Order: sequence, then C-alpha cells, then structure tokens
Amino acid sequence: MNLAAPITAFRVADIPDGPAARRPSVGVAVGKVVIGGQAPVAVQSMTNTDTADIEATVKQVASLALAGSELVRITVDRDEAAAAVPHIKERLLARRIDVPLIGDFHYIGHKLLTDHPACAEALDKYRINPGNVGFGEKRDRQFGTLIELAIRYGKPVRIGVNWGSLDQDLLTRLMDANAASSPPLTANAVMREAIVQSAILSAEKAEEIGLAREKIILSAKVSGVQDLIAVYRDLARRSNHALHLGLTEAGMGTKGIVASSAAMGMLLQEGIGDTIRVSLTPEPNGDRTREVQVAQELLQTMGFRAFLPVVAACPGCGRTTSTVFQELAKTIEEDLRKAMPEWRARYPGVEALKVAVMGCIVNGPGESKHADIGISLPGTGETPTAPVFIDGKKAATLRGPGIAEEFRRMVGAYVEQRFGV
Ligand code: SF4
Repeated sequence: MNLAAPITAFRVADIPDGPAARRPSVGVAVGKVVIGGQAPVAVQSMTNTDTADIEATVKQVASLALAGSELVRITVDRDEAAAAVPHIKERLLARRIDVPLIGDFHYIGHKLLTDHPACAEALDKYRINPGNVGFGEKRDRQFGTLIELAIRYGKPVRIGVNWGSLDQDLLTRLMDANAASSPPLTANAVMREAIVQSAILSAEKAEEIGLAREKIILSAKVSGVQDLIAVYRDLARRSNHALHLGLTEAGMGTKGIVASSAAMGMLLQEGIGDTIRVSLTPEPNGDRTREVQVAQELLQTMGFRAFLPVVAACPGCGRTTSTVFQELAKTIEEDLRKAMPEWRARYPGVEALKVAVMGCIVNGPGESKHADIGISLPGTGETPTAPVFIDGKKAATLRGPGIAEEFRRMVGAYVEQRFGV
C-alpha cells in the first residue's frame, strides 16, 4: 500500500455530521414546560417515595427539580396519596419550586381523580396506562372517565403503554390474526405491533371523546434495547403525537445507564423523542437524582442541550501513577455540579463552559487548549509543574502541593470574569 497516495474513495462530506431533523410533533404544554413541537427535549424523573408521606415526597421532588428535572412524576395509588398531592404542590410552591407534577395512575385513576378534585387540579399531567385502566367492559368506561376528567381540568395526559402490562385482549386478537396469516410474523413482532397499536388506538379513543391532540403524549416502553428502537421508530412513523422516551426497567448502575443511553441515543439521533426519562434502579439508599444526571449527560454529550459545564478528563494510564489528577477531575466536576443551581441564575450561558483536567504532557496541553480553561498535570517522571491554559493560551504554571486548590480558584475566577453580568 502506498501511504503517500491521496485517499479518493472516502470523503468526510459523505458522512452526516449531526442528528437527523427532529420529527415534527404536536407540542403539549405541561405546566410551564412544552413537550414536542420542536421544544428542546425535556428531562423528567419520578419519585420513589410514598406519595402519602408529604414531607418525604416534597423533599425528593425538590431535589430532583434542583438537579434539573423539568417535570417530576409521582405515584398516585390510593386515597391517602391523592389527598397528599395538593399539599405537596403547595409546599413546593412555598419553596419556589414550580416544577410540573405528573400523577401516575393505575387501575383506579378514574376513581381517585373523581373523589379528589384538589388532586386533579394540582397535577399538571395525568399518566394513564391503557393496559391498567380496567378489564372487560369496565375498561372503556374507566378510560373514558379519565379522559373526561382531563378535559374538565384542562390537563394533558400521557398514554403510557408498557409491555409488562400490555392490553391482553388486543395482544390475543393480534396473535390469533397472526396465527391465521401466511407466513406468520414472529411472536416478538406481534408483541411490538400490539404495543404500538395500544398507544395509537388509545390516543384515537381519547381524541374521539374530545381530548385535543395538543393534550396527548405517547410512550411505549419495553426493556430491550432493540425492541425499544423498533417500537419507537414505528410509533414515530405512524403518529405525530409528542413522544416520551424511556427504556423501562433499565436496571442498576452501569447496565441501566448503558442500555438507556444506547437505546435513547439511537432514537434521538434519528430525531425521535420529545422528553426522556432514564429509569435507573437506585442502589439501596442511593441518590435518586442520578437518573436526572444521566438524562442530562445523554442530551449534552450528544449536543442537543447544555445543562452543565463539561469536564474533559483523560482516562489516565501508566504515565499517571499518582491519583492527583483523578481526584482533581472528580472535585472539579462535583464543584461545578454543586454550584450550578446558583450559577444558572448568576452566570447566564455558564452551561457551555468546557474544562479540561489532563494527566500528562502527551495530550494534556493540546486538550487543555481546546477547553475554555484546562490544566495539564505532571505525569510520572515529569517536572512537577502544571501549565494552565485559558482560552487556548498558556496563562499560568502551577507548582507545589496547592495545585488543585489554585486551579479550582482559577476556574471560579474565569466563570466570574466570562459569565458574570
Ligand atoms: S494524557 Fe497522558 S496520562 Fe492521560 S491518558 Fe494520555 S498519555 Fe495517559
């Protein structure tokens, strides 16, 4: 092979340089947040407290909202929970936390919303699972009641299909029809079709009852990455409703994060999805806001939105035998995250800040120059100095045991000077 020969068969221009255009969808106002209709993809989350425990629920909703969740869903599963909802809303507003609250209803939502008008009024959206609104002849009646209540209170609904609670009558009908067809589809393909049909038929029914399309969001959650991609591609093709994306039962830790990111990242790249939730199972007593952080990072790393300053850090290698640089990268990231609730108001545009923390001279200076402010720490055997680059130019050389502290101070000063009003 002649390495000096020009490459002609490959042109960078042939490769798409960004995501597909967002799929056009009908925008839905949920409290102060718009979902769909080209509004930025919204981040949402869900509490895991007992909603009847007002104090615990207010505390968790507040922490999710402060972490950046733009909508928060709470379980409304019984009278005590429904009765607590207006008090939760009131206490949040008293703390100036005006995050839209979504009520998650299963089985008896029609009854709870009828018996607790203050709950129906306080919620900003109702989530209805068409597989769980009732069975047999009760199903249509109870679904109708829920939709009529949404119309009466002027609230949007999410018709949220979940394969774990799929409408069994619909699935059976499709399975029977498939068995008689030639060649039949696989059972998995029929299940996907049932999920999509359940969402679309329920939305049609809601519209027939009188709920405007501007009040309906659809979701169709499954727990397999390939199934989720297939189902949402189909749903996006067959409807123009705003879509809520999420991989259900994503799991714990890295497995949940990777599976959610792989599935939702692929769909977002194709322009599909108007709001996302990352359904992570927290560690026992773990931090529920982790799911908000992951959702924000997914949208930010893909270039759709900016929520937090980005810290670029190298992975470290045999050239970094001390832990100084890992500790500094972690501290800087934590500092920035902690400061953001206040910085958002004080330093407009600070979300776009890029910081680099690098471990040695190999890529350190280069990466630091690409950041707004970056430090290249000394690797093993290198002179114990750390050049700092600001806006691409070397601004200082730090030495001694106070390098980390001094760099943190410089980041704070840079933010003040660049983003301070
Ligand atoms: S920048 Fe240096 S320390 Fe970091 S991964 Fe590259 S070679 Fe290793």
